[in-house]
Amino acid sequence: PPTRRLFGRKVENILRPLDLSDDDYHTVMQSMLDQMERGLGAATNDTAPIKMYPTYVRAVPDGTESGEFLALDLGGTNFRVLLVTLKGQEVKMDSKIFLIPQHIMLGSGKHLFDHIAECIYRFVKEHNLMERKLPLGFTFSFPCRQKGLARAMLTTWTKGFKCEGVEGHDIVALLHEAITRRGDLNVECLAVINDTVGALMSCAHTDRKCAVGIILGTGSNACYIEKLEKVEMAEGNEPGPPEMLINTEWGAFGDDGSLDFITTDFDRQVDKHSINAGKQRYEKFISGMYMGEIVRLALEKLRKNGLLFGGEGSYHMATRGRFYTKYVSEVESDDTDSFPMTKQIFQELEIETVTDQDCRLVRHVCALVSRRAAFLSSAGVACILNKMKRPEVTVAVDGSLYRFHPHFHDLMMEKTRVLAPGIRYKFMLSEDGSGKGAALVAAVANRIL
Ligand code: ADP
Repeated sequence: PPTRRLFGRKVENILRPLDLSDDDYHTVMQSMLDQMERGLGAATNDTAPIKMYPTYVRAVPDGTESGEFLALDLGGTNFRVLLVTLKGQEVKMDSKIFLIPQHIMLGSGKHLFDHIAECIYRFVKEHNLMERKLPLGFTFSFPCRQKGLARAMLTTWTKGFKCEGVEGHDIVALLHEAITRRGDLNVECLAVINDTVGALMSCAHTDRKCAVGIILGTGSNACYIEKLEKVEMAEGNEPGPPEMLINTEWGAFGDDGSLDFITTDFDRQVDKHSINAGKQRYEKFISGMYMGEIVRLALEKLRKNGLLFGGEGSYHMATRGRFYTKYVSEVESDDTDSFPMTKQIFQELEIETVTDQDCRLVRHVCALVSRRAAFLSSAGVACILNKMKRPEVTVAVDGSLYRFHPHFHDLMMEKTRVLAPGIRYKFMLSEDGSGKGAALVAAVANRIL
């Protein structure tokens, strides 16, 4: 968008760093590729910021999976237990949300897994499934170093959890110990996956071309299908197809400084005030937890220079985290003649005088920040597509940012075309990937076992 013509040279000088060129995106892709290759290599993984964790998921579903499976989903906004019934393309799901109280989130690991076992018990009892032996798939969306499909050592807790005695331990063993302590459950966990793998598996069930899964929600991550011979970090040597899904943990891209060349003052402040300064640098450009705050910092800078709201600020606009990422979606969806939603937002934020020209500038800032986020996500996707070299790929996507932002999808389509020329791709929204995906992995495991 032509910043200078619409808003003048001073505004342009402040916002220019948010506007990246295709050369910049190509540089980003090249260094992401380097970091991914380092993550895959056994000799280089230790120092690679992108960890490229093996998932031990070897095959995508072929649509013939059938049976009843339990699934657990921990690590998103809620903890859920699900019963998934697969019968070819037909998928039936029944789920229940259980609360994890704060004292359990911050208590002992034993207490957490006893609580999870108790929730499984209540669910199974309610569904009259006590007599059956049920295979279970566990979507556990925290970084794990896996040693097998059903062996996952938690690297570090995130997202408000901090249970003692779990980091460095196998969460499947902890779950099975809790189940054994009770003695009244006939459940076996066959697989642990994270939400990206869930999204990929769930889309692959209906679309055989699906080979990449990405998350654009609170955080950002991606997984894809890699040739087995490239996966040097995987242990053991189970029979199966010569491929494995890799959980990239690409959010940590740039933690070695390789994205400093596109980092603005706004990004530096976001990082500095986060609980994980210096970490997850790529994720901080892109995901829902940070985008609103980047916009707020840019608006504050314009305002302090007398270029917005006649220089008038407010307590709310000066408060970290107060400009929500969902506002960015609302501003960009607003009517461009009278800006009713934008004016409503700033009324809530207690800015007294908001002109139409102010609204235009706010919208422009939101568009610059979300466009950069979408294009950087495209750079990530294009990097993976170019690396996989398949002629046609479906990319499964999950997360509220992608789901609810009015232009994210279109922007990603546009830029991926430029950055991954010659590859046919489409983005497919994943519906309930965490539940369905976990059941599908358990089903595939069941078939291979
Ligand atoms: P999670 O990633 O925790 O599983 P979600 O996919 O729902 O959960 O993502 C939550 C993130 O999405 C939050 O950071 C929030 O800011 C962002 N978000 C929620 N609603 C919207 C919206 N309408 N537009 C853009 N982002 C949104």
